[in-house]
Amino acid sequence: MHVKEEAPARRAVVAGAGIGGTAAALALARRGWQVTLAERATELGEVGAGLQMSPNAARCLGALGVLGAVDANAFRPRRAVLRDGVTGREVFAAPLGAAAEARWGAPYLHVHRADLLAALAGAATAAGVGLRLGAEVTGWQEDAAGVAVRLADGTTESADLVVAADGVRTALREVMHGPAPVRFTGQVAWRAVIPTSAVPGGLLPPDATVWAGWGRHVVTYYLRGGALINVVAVEESSGWTEEGWSVPGDASRLRGIFGGWHGAVSRVLDLVEAPLRWGLFDRPPPPSWSKGRAVLLGDACHPMLPFMAQGAAMALEDAVVLAACLDAAPVPQALAAYEARRRPRATRVQGVSRTNAALFHAGGLSRALRHGALGAVTRLAPQVAAGRLDWLYGHDATRDAS
Ligand SMILES: Cc1cc2nc3c(=O)[nH]c(=O)nc-3n(C[C@H](O)[C@H](O)[C@H](O)COP(=O)(O)OP(=O)(O)OC[C@H]3O[C@@H](n4cnc5c(N)ncnc54)[C@H](O)[C@@H]3O)c2cc1C
Repeated sequence: MHVKEEAPARRAVVAGAGIGGTAAALALARRGWQVTLAERATELGEVGAGLQMSPNAARCLGALGVLGAVDANAFRPRRAVLRDGVTGREVFAAPLGAAAEARWGAPYLHVHRADLLAALAGAATAAGVGLRLGAEVTGWQEDAAGVAVRLADGTTESADLVVAADGVRTALREVMHGPAPVRFTGQVAWRAVIPTSAVPGGLLPPDATVWAGWGRHVVTYYLRGGALINVVAVEESSGWTEEGWSVPGDASRLRGIFGGWHGAVSRVLDLVEAPLRWGLFDRPPPPSWSKGRAVLLGDACHPMLPFMAQGAAMALEDAVVLAACLDAAPVPQALAAYEARRRPRATRVQGVSRTNAALFHAGGLSRALRHGALGAVTRLAPQVAAGRLDWLYGHDATRDAS
């Protein structure tokens, strides 16, 4: 009897178990790859903060088989709203909730980062991904047989593919392309999560709200079925002199920066106890997203300001598209196809995120004009307001890949 021999599973090493790397490991394992997910930290973890998962991201979570688990702990906001930070006046609103799902074919969710990472990591290990903690990837060597991935402990792993998903602080991008100077964007984010029970009922509507003011803004939204409130406060700053990229912040200084703002903002900031301050950094685009059998993914290749709430969403889209492209072609060609599909979209989102800094932080006449125009769109043509987001939220990365 002739027994048909199965081709051995292709092997991948994914460097970085953030949202992007874990999603990529899961997507590859689901398609039959044998995957090692190497994470430098000794524990799997995300910063204790929230994340907006727009419908384009939720669709990827569905394709990865974790949408149900993520949704079970999420909060579904009613609307996305831009308000004047001082007066509280509503400037722009787009319906979310059931309207988002009907329009864009997937829900808009607010999730706790730890919940999202736990869902992705649980599904990845169940799909056979080998998670290695305390495993820092330092480089790789390619030859005709494949790629030998080097780790800081002196060991190597042989593979057919290495995915560098090591975040905005990426060292592996330098391994691929040489030095790429990191740039401070002039923006600093303060992050905190507070219990909803500490806030008077009805103070914050069930919306994703941007409170905008001159040179600064605050974002508030609910997490975990409404039990928690996520707070992100952003200020423009001339420099970042701290050691490291995130440091504990002084809550009274935070309150001072937003002194005189609308009562709802002040009340929420009064409850913040131990905020973290994050310098927001950027890098020039890499010359290419891949070289040979190595490829960049997520913030490692397209870091972006968080003002469209899309960094993790883009990393999820990358993961889904990368795995599908690798199904259709040998590694180097698949990596070129991945970049061709992903780069224009990620570049566009980076650009809009930068533009939003100007929109949120405008002062004087420019503020009156921008806010006036947005207010008119919201009042006169709510469908047009929602339509402005179709290209982003309606995008189906799972089709992109086929
Ligand atoms: C204030 C703020 C708010 C945001 N809000 C949103 C939002 O609402 N929605 C959204 O979609 N996005 C949001 N983002 C963006 C989002 O957080 C990031 O885009 C996303 O987390 C990037 O994921 P990543 O996996 O690419 O990188 P990271 O999360 O940075 O993960 C990189 C991982 O690689 C590991 N690592 C590093 N080097 C190595 C190495 N050499 N070997 C092995 N492991 C290594 C690190 O320890 C880390 O675990 C926000 C960002 C900020 C700053």
